[in-house]
Amino acid sequence: MSETQSKVNLLGLSPAKLEAFFEELGEKRFRATQVLKWIHQFGASSFDEMTNISKALRSKLAEVCEIREPEIVVEKISKDGTRKWVIRMDGGSAIEMVLIPDGDRKTLCVSSQVGCSLDCSFCSTGKQGFNRNLSTAEIIGQLRVAIRSFGPFDPSGERRVTNVVFMGMGEPLMNFDNVVDATELMMDDNAYGLSKRRVTLSTAGVVPALDKLREVSDVSLAISLHAPNNELRDQLVPINQRYPIEELVAACNRYLRELNDKRVVTVEYTLIAGVNDQPEHARQLVKVLRRLPCKLNLIPFNPFPNSGYERPAEEVIAAFKQIMLNASILTTVRRTRGDDVDAACGQLVGQVMDRTRRSQKYIPVLQDEPVQGKRPL
Ligand code: SAH
Repeated sequence: MSETQSKVNLLGLSPAKLEAFFEELGEKRFRATQVLKWIHQFGASSFDEMTNISKALRSKLAEVCEIREPEIVVEKISKDGTRKWVIRMDGGSAIEMVLIPDGDRKTLCVSSQVGCSLDCSFCSTGKQGFNRNLSTAEIIGQLRVAIRSFGPFDPSGERRVTNVVFMGMGEPLMNFDNVVDATELMMDDNAYGLSKRRVTLSTAGVVPALDKLREVSDVSLAISLHAPNNELRDQLVPINQRYPIEELVAACNRYLRELNDKRVVTVEYTLIAGVNDQPEHARQLVKVLRRLPCKLNLIPFNPFPNSGYERPAEEVIAAFKQIMLNASILTTVRRTRGDDVDAACGQLVGQVMDRTRRSQKYIPVLQDEPVQGKRPL
């Protein structure tokens, strides 16, 4: 193990863990809060910058820990303002990350895993196989990279990232501890200070983990439903074979009850031509959603090579939406952003060295131009 690898990366310690770390070092707890602010509010990358901390403590910290961000390999800005990055993680894998501006909002879509083990039939991340979980530092590193791209580090100012959604690569509930720690940092007032309404965890429906989440977090919730009945969902979202729709909906209701506020679950439904986009599907979906306080987000399928699926025609999308609206279900259609940089849902492919049997080879899927001064993949 190299010297840097053995150091603790402070970027990944939740507020509670950072306090515990300082206590172990024999330091006062309030030092942890100071360091937390330096790292996450002022974007410090070295201990020298931490001017309210004694020189002795700074050099002690520099000996045993580090503040290390993942490396940007590609950075692209779309005509519509969408930004996309390819970020290299330890071990050589790469993930993609997207930031979508919309009025005053800047929504960052982060990844939680390199690849994904769930293998949903219409998702290109799933087709890449699974490599590993991202560490908390690697998840928070994505947020730091995005904040920096707007100029001087300023998480609370005008240029800040306003919303974070775990809708990039991976299933966040399959990387439970690291994701929960990352959301704690995102929502902590001494770190990124985002409201719990503005940090959303999206899951394909790992029911036991969702029940566990309820006990430790109050992050906002989105679920990837994609089908109105178990027969179809078993095919599109294979984890449904273990945790069918009724169990998922019941777990969401338990989650909302625990939140005890007016929040609802965001239900994601990717519309795929001829598969789940018919009026009959919409009518079935109305029945399912009657049992869950929610808003529905329809995502027209984003094609990728060899997917075998197509996006429905606009009239079909509109008709589906109308059936939902007629049933008084709040429904929006997610419009594709960043088309010119391949930044749409399900098009985030990164570079996954698959460890499952799905594919035994390293898939060189990225042909992006490297950013000046950055190494190409
Ligand atoms: N694993 C989590 C996080 C991924 S979120 C989850 O399933 O919720 C990404 C969202 O985009 C999910 O709703 C996913 O099902 C959807 N998606 C994946 N591939 C897509 C594609 N090709 N077109 C449109 N939406 C897609």
